[in-house]
Amino acid sequence: MQADVVVLGAGMVGVSVAVHLQKRGRQVVLVDRRQPGEETSYGNGGLVQREAVFPHAFPRDIAELRRIARNRSVDVHYHLSALPGLAGRLFRYWWNSEPGRYAAIARDWFTLIATCLDEHKALAEEAGSTELLRPVGFLRAFNDTATMDSELAKAERARAFGVNSAALTPAALGELEPHLNNGFVGGLHWTDPYAVNDPHALTMSYFELFRRLGGEFAVGDAGMLRRGGAAWRVTAADGTEVEAGEAVVALGVWSGAVTKRFGYTPPLFGKRGYHLHFKPKGNAGLTRPVASNGFLLAPMRAGIRLTTGVEFARPPAPPTPVQLARAEPIARRVFPLDEAVEPEPWMGIRPCTPDMMPIIGPAPTQPHLWCAFGHAHQGFTLGPTTGRLLAEMMTGGVPFVDLAPFRAERF
Ligand SMILES: Cc1cc2nc3c(=O)[nH]c(=O)nc-3n(C[C@H](O)[C@H](O)[C@H](O)COP(=O)(O)OP(=O)(O)OC[C@H]3O[C@@H](n4cnc5c(N)ncnc54)[C@H](O)[C@@H]3O)c2cc1C
Repeated sequence: MQADVVVLGAGMVGVSVAVHLQKRGRQVVLVDRRQPGEETSYGNGGLVQREAVFPHAFPRDIAELRRIARNRSVDVHYHLSALPGLAGRLFRYWWNSEPGRYAAIARDWFTLIATCLDEHKALAEEAGSTELLRPVGFLRAFNDTATMDSELAKAERARAFGVNSAALTPAALGELEPHLNNGFVGGLHWTDPYAVNDPHALTMSYFELFRRLGGEFAVGDAGMLRRGGAAWRVTAADGTEVEAGEAVVALGVWSGAVTKRFGYTPPLFGKRGYHLHFKPKGNAGLTRPVASNGFLLAPMRAGIRLTTGVEFARPPAPPTPVQLARAEPIARRVFPLDEAVEPEPWMGIRPCTPDMMPIIGPAPTQPHLWCAFGHAHQGFTLGPTTGRLLAEMMTGGVPFVDLAPFRAERF
């Protein structure tokens, strides 16, 4: 199978890169060990997060660090055994979260986030899936006024980045989401984000667009990537040889395992997250996702999706969904949840870098090898943006956002 480009990894990022290259006349083969969109891009909160202009920083407040260190919270959990291996990368993450450095990072990060609604809308229009981009935003509901005041102040700062929001009294919160149990001191409505109630369907719609444009898909292990003369080669699971002049690594948190073999070792680390769907009781429903108490409740086609915050674990460690167990009783007080839909929770891994920014551009150690990974908490949001940027760069165009801050050489 001959192609101009082989894209490794068919999550939201890889599919978006593949479709943008194919649109620009490149013949692309997309390779994944599973079917498209079945890993982290499958089970996320489904938010296209125009409001996320401040990337997730490492906490620097001592009281907050103490709370997390106790390892009993809903929002963060860690395996002690994971910490020695992660220490260097977490230290750099902490260092980059110092207010001065963080402000500079947030300015660069904003240049990507600012484009997310337009880039999703453009792809979804071509793919015929605009009905999945629901312009309803999402809510944060607060238990205490101190947290509410500090989050409202953050929302005011975000206005300078073109982010819209509205503070909500308990009554206004109840009007927007009548089935939420009251008892909150108030809320915040981020009004810009799209809420997607089937993230997998959105990725699949972009994948189908890729196929309609003539792109091909093969099941295969990216670990088989090798040089064959000037070309890249991968042997697909059915034995087919895929050969292409350029290769793109878009393997999410697994990207480093492949680039390392070609001399580039990015300091990626994973933040695991879980979800479980519940049937709503009676006629209860949510119009949009609601974040509170360290978890998110998102209305999905499959049910009400309860998603958790962050877990640090060694890559091979089996799932430990303790945060779901902690969140579920609280979630039941917040919203009338009935029985769980699945017997086991789903787990995904956010691909993170110590400076909170993705790696987009050529690999520094090999010609014709490209990187598109490290989107952390917002890879579902930024897939189409990254796809367009990388495709523009690879086809000799001028990327519509300056890619210098995201280049691989910074690590
Ligand atoms: C609980 C949770 C909630 C989240 N909520 C949101 C949200 O609301 N909004 C948002 O923007 N983001 C959210 N995220 C983050 C987002 O889901 C990720 O950033 C995004 O899915 C990453 O996409 P990706 O394409 O880089 O990686 P993935 O979707 O993980 O895709 C990587 C692909 O590589 C393939 N692969 C890996 N190794 C190999 C190999 N050796 N050979 C072949 N194929 C391989 C995998 O099968 C997979 O298909 C959330 C994440 C979690 C865990």
